[in-house]
Amino acid sequence: MDKKTLNNNEIVLTGQYLGVVEEFLPDKQSTFVKDGQIYASRSGLLNIDHKKRKIEIKTNQEENWKIVKVGDVVIGVILFLRQYSVGINFYTINQKVHFNSGYFGNIHVSQISDRYVEKIQEAFQITDIVRARVIKLNYNEFDLSTSEKNLGVIYADCVICGTPLVQIGYNKLRCERCGNQETRKLATDYRKVDQPLRY
Ligand SMILES: [Zn+2]
Repeated sequence: MDKKTLNNNEIVLTGQYLGVVEEFLPDKQSTFVKDGQIYASRSGLLNIDHKKRKIEIKTNQEENWKIVKVGDVVIGVILFLRQYSVGINFYTINQKVHFNSGYFGNIHVSQISDRYVEKIQEAFQITDIVRARVIKLNYNEFDLSTSEKNLGVIYADCVICGTPLVQIGYNKLRCERCGNQETRKLATDYRKVDQPLRY
């Protein structure tokens, strides 16, 4: 058994030896004690409070759960399209930007619109900026929805030439540079958002 001294913020694994009870006050949620020795009861980042002599293991998941709640409105960028969902990276939660932590969410095809969406590509494209609502906390990812009128794409570039697209109708966009026409699930304030959207 490896009994070297561990450092703060070091990654520890479930079952790993952390120290002795004479040395630390073990956290009940994330450690267990056997014969006076403290072990990790889950994997995560080691957190040692030297003042209180408290030792515990934190996971990013907990931080996410604390900040992001069901019902929150987030703004993020479409990272990839799958057959039945899109992946989105977000930093803005209820108008507040959280620079230190990026969050990841999924929008399932059934949650894009209150109208039927046949193909994901008709609603979103990679790099679109989207406003969405958190509907479920799913392990360390978030399930999002854009079915409300004020939710959906708020900024999109032409997939051909990269020029910002102009709205020409309900969920319809046109590139003024190359004439390319595209569809999206648009928010009612498409390109009318005056806060910075890209970081
Ligand atoms: Zn274009």
